[in-house]
Amino acid sequence: MNPRHRLAALAGGLVLAVFPGGAAHAQDPYAAPRQQMLADIVQITRDTRFETGRAQLSQRVTAAMAKVPRHRFVPPELERHAYANRPLPIGMGQTISQPFIVALMTDLLEIKPGDRVLEVGTGSGYQAAVLAELAAAVYTIEIVEPLARQATERLKVLGYRNVVTRTGDGYAGWPDQAPFDGIMVTAGAREVPPALLQQLKPGGKLVIPVGPMGAQVLMVYDKGTDGRATRREVLPVRFVPLTGGPR
Ligand code: SAH
Repeated sequence: MNPRHRLAALAGGLVLAVFPGGAAHAQDPYAAPRQQMLADIVQITRDTRFETGRAQLSQRVTAAMAKVPRHRFVPPELERHAYANRPLPIGMGQTISQPFIVALMTDLLEIKPGDRVLEVGTGSGYQAAVLAELAAAVYTIEIVEPLARQATERLKVLGYRNVVTRTGDGYAGWPDQAPFDGIMVTAGAREVPPALLQQLKPGGKLVIPVGPMGAQVLMVYDKGTDGRATRREVLPVRFVPLTGGPR
């Protein structure tokens, strides 16, 4: 290599070293806000460590959140707020959860690369995309048909081939695809739907907000190898209600 080229290559390397992801910034106007979102998540994780029991998130989870283009999952007029740490309306009276809660719930599920995961409450499809970065296969159910349709299309356009979407009532789980290594419910349930615990593999985890509106608590259920579940409370949360179920 001639010396001038070598210098240019070196300089290029240096720029990249000083600004990690520098090349990506040029094409993705949201690369910097996404980095800021991650910094916010890291800070809130530290601030809530006494309640949640975790001072930091797994590196796999932060890497997944760094990858998924959250701005593609919100209505165009809210795109510029996509990386703020707050929930946003996604139409049909529903919301996309705050990024910190997405990160925390994902972390609590402790997904391994070969896992098959069920999500109840597809909404925008954002949480499903984060799960898809971590698991082998994601099955996600949404009860509101237009949201399910939109999320399916969006995940397809973004190239998430390991997500299967379905319109239906997730209160009953997804019996045809059960059992799952992990199940996440992203709507507030009055009580834990029994089918979800049944469809969990021994050793699997269910992450679910439970309780009446205004007093929901994020819960983790661990299903032991003997099939018995133990539960623990993580954090007070606010979710749109889980509808469906027995009438
Ligand atoms: N995970 C979503 C946000 C979920 S908002 C995201 O990343 O954008 C909660 C969603 O749960 C709403 O879209 C709501 O329609 C859906 N939902 C409520 N009850 C449900 C049920 N019984 N089965 C499936 N989806 C349900």
